[in-house]
Amino acid sequence: MSRPVHPSAGTRVLALLGDPVAHSLSPLVQNTAFREAGVDGVYVALRCAGEDLEGFMRGIGRAGGGGNVTLPHKERAAAAVDVPSEAVRRTGACNTFWGTEEGIRGDNTDVEGFRRALRHFLGEPPDGYRVLLLGAGGAARAILVALLEDGVGEVSVLNRTTERARAVTRRIGGSRARVVDRSADVDGERFDLVVNATPLGLSPDDPLPVDLDRFDRVGVVVDLVYGPDETPFVLDARKRGIRATDGGEMLVHQAAVAFERWWDLPAPLEAMKRALAGARNGEP
Ligand code: NAP
Repeated sequence: MSRPVHPSAGTRVLALLGDPVAHSLSPLVQNTAFREAGVDGVYVALRCAGEDLEGFMRGIGRAGGGGNVTLPHKERAAAAVDVPSEAVRRTGACNTFWGTEEGIRGDNTDVEGFRRALRHFLGEPPDGYRVLLLGAGGAARAILVALLEDGVGEVSVLNRTTERARAVTRRIGGSRARVVDRSADVDGERFDLVVNATPLGLSPDDPLPVDLDRFDRVGVVVDLVYGPDETPFVLDARKRGIRATDGGEMLVHQAAVAFERWWDLPAPLEAMKRALAGARNGEP
C-alpha cells in the first residue's frame, strides 16, 4: 500500500553519483519504492566529477543518507568507503553506500542483484552450470563473483582484450574460471548459460556479442543490456528456441538490494518492477 511521505527537514537524502546521470531510471525506481514502503527519503541524481566523489559520499553519509555510484566512479568508490562488503572487496567496485556510526559502508549490489535475477529466471540456482561470460569489465567482475558463489561448474571468460579477462580471473577466478585465449577455442562447445556483459546491443549498429550457431548447445541466454525494446541478442536467442532475458530483471533486483541496505526493510519489488516497465514503455 502506497503511503506518500512529504519531504521535510528530517527527510533522508539518497543520491546517485556518476557522470552522466541525467537519463538514469534509478530516481524513478527508488522514489517509487520509497513511496510504496512509506519511508521518509528522497532519491536524486547528482552529476559528479571523480575528484568530488569522496567528498559527496562522506558528506551525504555523515548527514545520515547514502546512495548509489555509477560509471565511471565505481572503482574510486570502492577505495573511498570505510567498511567495504565482501562483494566490494572481491570485485574492487562499489555501487551502493550509506553512512553509519562506523563510517561509510559500501556494497556492490550488482553481485546479489545478478544472483537474484538469475535464480528468478532459472527457477533454481545454477549448480554445476557451464557458463560462457562475454566481457571482462565491471559488470563481468560482479557476475563472475555471483556465479562462483552460486556453485557453477566452470566459467569461460571471453573478452575482446584477452589480458583484461586474465586480470579478472586472476583477481576473482580460482580454478573454476578459465580464460578463452582465442574466440575459436569455444567453437562446438556446450554451455548451460551464456551471459553478455559487454555493451554490444546498446547501439542499433552493434554486431551481436557472439554468434550462437558456433556452439553445440546453449541452455539459456542472459543479456545485461536493456532498452525500451527486447535486445537483438535476446531476440536472436529466442529465434533459435533458446530461453533468454535482458538486463531489466538485474537492474531492478540490484536496486532492491540497495533499498534493503539503506532501509533495512524488504524492498517493494513489484512496485519497482512496475515503475521500470512503465518507463520502458514510454509512460511519463
Ligand atoms: P565496462 O566496465 O566498460 O566493460 C565493458 C566490457 O565490454 C569490456 O570487457 C569491453 O572489452 C567489452 N566491450 C566494449 N565494447 C566492445 C565491443 N565493441 N566489442 C567487444 N567487446 C566490447 O562496462 P560494464 O560496467 O562492465 O557494463 C557492461 C554492460 O553491462 C553495459 O551495457 C551496462 O549497461 C550493462 N550493465 C547492466 C546492468 C544491469 O543491471 N542490467 C548492470 C551493470 C552493467 P575490452 O576489455 O576489450 O574493452
